[in-house]
Amino acid sequence: MPYFDHNATTPLAAVAREVWLRAQDEAWQNPSSPHRAAAQVKIRLDAAREKFAILLGDDAGRYVFTSGATEAANLVLAWWARTLPADALIAVNPTEHPCVLEPARAFFGDRIRWLALDSTGVLDVAALKKCHLIGDTKDRVAAVVVMAANNETGVLQPWAEIAAACREAGAACLCDASQWLGKLPAGGIGGDGFVIASAHKFGGPKGVGLLKLAPQSEGLRGQLGGGQEHGHRGGTEDFPGIAAMGAALADAEQKKVFLETERLGWREEFERAVGLAVPGVRVVAAGADRLWNTVALLMPFAENTRWVARLDKRGFQVSTGSACATGKAGPSRVLAALGFDAAEAKRVVRVSAGWETTAADWRALAAAMAEVAAEVRPGSA
Ligand code: PLP
Repeated sequence: MPYFDHNATTPLAAVAREVWLRAQDEAWQNPSSPHRAAAQVKIRLDAAREKFAILLGDDAGRYVFTSGATEAANLVLAWWARTLPADALIAVNPTEHPCVLEPARAFFGDRIRWLALDSTGVLDVAALKKCHLIGDTKDRVAAVVVMAANNETGVLQPWAEIAAACREAGAACLCDASQWLGKLPAGGIGGDGFVIASAHKFGGPKGVGLLKLAPQSEGLRGQLGGGQEHGHRGGTEDFPGIAAMGAALADAEQKKVFLETERLGWREEFERAVGLAVPGVRVVAAGADRLWNTVALLMPFAENTRWVARLDKRGFQVSTGSACATGKAGPSRVLAALGFDAAEAKRVVRVSAGWETTAADWRALAAAMAEVAAEVRPGSA
């Protein structure tokens, strides 16, 4: 069944499954226990930290394992709320995932400054520098939040430039790398700011994620709970899950990410094919650099739930937008930030491929969309 919903979650990679099963048999003890078997798990846990330091960069001591990107985002925003001055402002990209937007709103409320975007949703770095980072402006911020790649549109943000500008200005920076890792090279992601991600977006298990600490974040120590993760995050560590996450990312880095150009070609071929098959369809953020796997399509007619259901019947799993938003009422905040009205947002179908998706799968999806178009076009029987 061609699965085109990888931005919601990916299947477990074979190598991650193997590592997970082995660790469940060999290294299931609590790393905080006082006996030798537990000490061995603790050593393996710290070796996993070294692995992430090699893949992403920076010191192993900066890596904290969490239950996912949502927990990691909450930890960073809570820490900023505790440690930044009471009147400090933060600048936030309006197309962030709710796991970032919600804690940002809860902790900073009207102390948020929304970053300017171009019409495709790419952040305007010059405006960020001018309005929020440089000089003595009233909107000068102490911290900036920007994702590496958008989950709904696939748009890539200039995170390296933003991290460098923050560093120069002495501002903190948080990069949500959830949709970047495993799809594009991980080295250096997020500069020396905070980085968050979830294993299940790149072939690892669900319920495991990571937080890379920024150098100035020593104060994250003191998180309430047990003293695990060198005092940064309480709670018994899931070593098998963490080991599987490391295996999944290493697998993607070593065997997959260099295939990007070929896969980008397949995505572009699909966009052309859908354009011919469904006249009037629009690719959201068409002009921007986007992930090789993601296409958000504004269909010319019929609500996206009808497209999803009819494609599902034909064996294609696609989405209406981010999985976490589909159960909730109201339009996607990403599409609203791009200027789409509520009626248009309800016609957006998100397609997100994986490494195992073939060129033939993309072609078959375009053909299935042509069939569905004929069924849901206004006036059709
Ligand atoms: N950030 C982005 C860009 C995402 O797409 C997601 C999941 O959809 C998350 C964060 C949250 O990940 P999790 O639900 O695993 O915490």
